[in-house]
Amino acid sequence: MKTLESLEFSNRFSRELPADHNSANSRRQVHYACYSRVSPTPVSAPSVVSWSREVAADLDLPPEECERPLFAELFGGNRLLDGMDPFAMCYGGHQFGNWAGQLGDGRAINLGEVRTSTGYQTLQLKGAGPTPYSRTADGLAVLRSSVREYLCSEAMHHLGVPTTRALSLVLTGEKVRRDMFYDGNPQWEPGAVVCRVAPSFTRFGNFQIFASRKDPDTLKQLVEFTIRSDFPHLLPAHDGPLPSEIVTAWFDEVCQRTAAMIVHWQRVGFVHGVMNTDNMSILGLTIDYGPYGWLEGFDRGWTPNTTDAQGRRYRFGNQPVVAHWNLYQLANAIVQMTEDPKPLEQSLEEYANSFNRGFYEMMTQKLGLSKFQPDGDQDLVDDVFDVLSTTETDMTIFFRNLAQLPHTSDPVNDLPACLSDALYVPEEFTGDVREAFLDWLNRYRLRIVDDGLSADERSAMMNAANPKYVLRNYMAQVAIDQLEEGRADEVNRLLELLRHPYDEQPEHEQQYFARRPEWARERAGCSMLSCSS
Ligand code: AMP
Ligand code: MG
Repeated sequence: MKTLESLEFSNRFSRELPADHNSANSRRQVHYACYSRVSPTPVSAPSVVSWSREVAADLDLPPEECERPLFAELFGGNRLLDGMDPFAMCYGGHQFGNWAGQLGDGRAINLGEVRTSTGYQTLQLKGAGPTPYSRTADGLAVLRSSVREYLCSEAMHHLGVPTTRALSLVLTGEKVRRDMFYDGNPQWEPGAVVCRVAPSFTRFGNFQIFASRKDPDTLKQLVEFTIRSDFPHLLPAHDGPLPSEIVTAWFDEVCQRTAAMIVHWQRVGFVHGVMNTDNMSILGLTIDYGPYGWLEGFDRGWTPNTTDAQGRRYRFGNQPVVAHWNLYQLANAIVQMTEDPKPLEQSLEEYANSFNRGFYEMMTQKLGLSKFQPDGDQDLVDDVFDVLSTTETDMTIFFRNLAQLPHTSDPVNDLPACLSDALYVPEEFTGDVREAFLDWLNRYRLRIVDDGLSADERSAMMNAANPKYVLRNYMAQVAIDQLEEGRADEVNRLLELLRHPYDEQPEHEQQYFARRPEWARERAGCSMLSCSS
């Protein structure tokens, strides 16, 4: 175990890659550099709202270290430890399908890379003040978006979804001005800082920026650094320049990891909301929790992001396709480092196969089948989503409770109570809707009887794939409302609840394993979110 002061910093990124020579914290275009050194802006009264014991443990920090005043000072941005080397990364990106040029860490500052007993972890403050990449914005973050990032990163981790993590949520004691709905109505809101933790925060856009600027040298350095530090298993036995095959093998792995991440999103009903290429992690981690949301009523067309309301580019059902498009942009950026573009094209094609294979395997578990039989199961899977779309049906409750469907040869003539719990508008359960549900349930019933798993085996498999507790959109909002009144109990209660999303936790069932309350249907922050954060 360590103390804060004995954390060991290795800082490979800033040690090995080219830095911006200009050390001023002024907004500018940064060329021929992967990052700019910049320190967090001190704040008046940092106070810790919550910290994650698992992330602290990953950093070898015992709980006492997180209760020290120094912890608030460090992770609010007021102090640095010896060995930290703070910087903001330079990257570009495609935003909503268009090349946006240089973006960069406008309000994220990497404090340093810690060498832990199990590997390297980078600590990054989000909302700790302006950097050379802040463009016209302030470099700060408001409490509501920080709570959402903090809780969701941890919830996703416990759901088994690859994600960046969050160590701490700190109030800064300062106010930040935001026009939440871009309607000319700015308000002062409490400011906060989240300390995010990941082996690397490199995004597709970090590579794209150098390709777009015709800077092959820096691009090459970043690619080689990334493979050496984050994909060492791909390295050849001997040192020397990396051959083209290693670069293409690396891209192939990025495709596979991205496919696996999206399969998880589709499994738990997570909608990222802003899948721009600057928000795609090279490690296949979910990154940048902004206007994300969770499906309540299942709807392939849903996005919580009001900024994307028109085109709905980032809607739930489009996530697999958008990830593919983003990978294509990454391939375009790195193709100059390969001798032959074919392997990259093959990896892109293989992404689609890999996603499909992963998706149906995942659905086999969600439905509790011992084996996927392409002949009938593909239709069974595709059709369940059509059925859920006929009337507003809670995705989480439906799949979780489907495990309770009895194994019997008797036809299902009515919707079992456990499943009608998932309906938002029970009056709509007549006519075609009713027919569609019962028809599907009877096909499914015959399939599980035929499959031969015992009821217990089946429900164990299903309960490990179908979470009971997810961070429903309104749950985070309730925690935010409370915090704005000065109480942190709900944030910490949710953090606890979401540490065990697959457990029954009967004491929490009534409150949290329930359909979204009607008041939350149209409330800002619950169903509609803008990029303002
Ligand atoms: P996002 O859509 O949140 O991924 O952000 C896109 C870009 O805008 C990134 O380069 C961010 O660093 C930057 N950005 C977002 N909010 C702010 C802010 N409040 N201050 C400075 N930069 C920001
Ligand atoms: Mg971002």
